[in-house]
Amino acid sequence: MTADANYDVVIVGTGAGGGTMAYALAATGARILVIERGEMVPAEDDNWSPEAVWRDLRYRTSERWLDERGEPFVPYMHYGVGGNTKYWGSVLYRLRREDFGALAHEDGVSPAWPIEYDALAPYYDRAERLYGVRGEVGADPTDPPRGPFPHPAVPHAPGMQALVEGLRQQGLHPSPLPLGLLRPGEDGGCILCNTCNSFPCRIGAKSDADVCCVRPAIERPNVTLWTNTFARRLLTDGSGRRVATVEVDRRGEVLRVGAALVIVSCGAANSAALLLRSASPAHPEGLANSSGLVGRRYMAHLATMMQGFHPLRPNDTVFQKTVAINDYYLKGPDSPYPLGHIQSQGRTHGIMAKVVGDTIIPGIPLSAYNAWVSRGVDWLVMSEDLPHPDNRVTVDSQGRLQLHYRPNNLAPHGRLVNETRRILRRLGFWKVMTHSHKNRNTTHQCGTMCFGSDPATSVLDPYCRSHDVANLFVVDASFFPSSAAVNPALTIVAQALRVAEHIEAEELG
Ligand SMILES: Cc1cc2nc3c(=O)[nH]c(=O)nc-3n(C[C@H](O)[C@H](O)[C@H](O)COP(=O)(O)OP(=O)(O)OC[C@H]3O[C@@H](n4cnc5c(N)ncnc54)[C@H](O)[C@@H]3O)c2cc1C
Ligand code: SF4
Repeated sequence: MTADANYDVVIVGTGAGGGTMAYALAATGARILVIERGEMVPAEDDNWSPEAVWRDLRYRTSERWLDERGEPFVPYMHYGVGGNTKYWGSVLYRLRREDFGALAHEDGVSPAWPIEYDALAPYYDRAERLYGVRGEVGADPTDPPRGPFPHPAVPHAPGMQALVEGLRQQGLHPSPLPLGLLRPGEDGGCILCNTCNSFPCRIGAKSDADVCCVRPAIERPNVTLWTNTFARRLLTDGSGRRVATVEVDRRGEVLRVGAALVIVSCGAANSAALLLRSASPAHPEGLANSSGLVGRRYMAHLATMMQGFHPLRPNDTVFQKTVAINDYYLKGPDSPYPLGHIQSQGRTHGIMAKVVGDTIIPGIPLSAYNAWVSRGVDWLVMSEDLPHPDNRVTVDSQGRLQLHYRPNNLAPHGRLVNETRRILRRLGFWKVMTHSHKNRNTTHQCGTMCFGSDPATSVLDPYCRSHDVANLFVVDASFFPSSAAVNPALTIVAQALRVAEHIEAEELG
């Protein structure tokens, strides 16, 4: 099979996993091709326009997936350089030490990881430095053992500080959210605006994979980026044990790129879809799928957006996403089981509320939503969902991605939502509103190719190499054996750095 181009390493995807991997391998001098289906996100006024982002869906994919009933839906996903990290809230958490072990939950056991926290801790340190994370040691009762953060925590705005004091009076232990923001308050740095979570940063001050990793990587002559290039299939050699070429659609032209190593990081759903689309006589159920687990065990967190509303208390906070509450992470007030994590959320804009509200009661004027959200404080409540083999990604005969997902572990999430409602009422809010993406939640997708030591029960080994295909690695959140209940991306970054170091020593050294 002849290739149209040849590289030492091909990396597919430029998000938290792929972007970090490109950065980490760039200095090896290996000839690296990075493939990204989307384009660079332009710096433009629309970046910070709630209308462009939420009403016109300027940056959202228009791709449709199918849900478990076969109904098409547009996933909350973004395809472009930096992947979903361009739009993230930049909350960059380490998993808790307990998340690496088996943990009993109300609906079953969250399985152990094949590595312990201590194995990832040095890479979390490096990940935090690379993405400029700000936080405070010792404030969060669930923090794993760790050294200082690279930067001090972002201070709470006065309105949030007042709520933090109210939370303490309730006996809770609120802590600063660990955030990846570049040079806040400095010239050219982050201005702590109210259009961060779900918006790209107009001034490049968010620690995303594009700014922190891809741009520095492609400055090197050995790293090439192809945008608008979709990886269609991975084709193996005659033995079936190595990927020989990556078949891509580059701006309408189908090409085959040869590579000694192939590193896939398309996001947990799209990476599974890519391997399933790469079925061949040597791999009839999909590439690297001798375990039958590719696409299975999809998880995405149980997440509920909550808003505390007080008609007489205008909310003048601009940058609101600074507070975390982890008191119920490992056990609830009336339950021996973990409930999850609570964090303050970026400000809701009237148009965002209207877009959601119109799907429930159409026709309410924007002015009513503006009046409402200007008196609300926003929170996100997150619980762990458990891996189940029937929660899975499949592809149909036309290559369309289908997401079969039935949320589980719902009772503890309901308890956490109720507890948060009580907390917000005690803070004086008159009304508490909730909203959830339910079974179409994709932002924290993970688990579709879990890592482990046993090829019968895992797809990847503990360094994210396929058990079946020797030169294939997958470094997005596919490898997660469990979803934990904090934001996933710093763990993706840390593991990518760990895998890169392994590849450098074992494959490129
Ligand atoms: C609005 C929003 C807010 C979030 N906030 C946070 C947060 O505060 N903290 C946190 O930890 N996480 C957050 N997340 C989740 C976080 O962004 C993801 O966990 C992370 O980006 C996943 O990294 P990844 O490398 O797996 O995939 P992605 O970032 O999704 O990157 C995958 C890349 O692969 C490309 N791609 C896909 N398929 C192909 C193909 N076939 N060929 C070529 N390219 C392909 C895509 O275009 C994309 O660029 C948020 C997500 C969203 C959407
Ligand atoms: S300026 Fe700061 S708060 Fe605003 S989008 Fe950029 S990184 Fe986020």
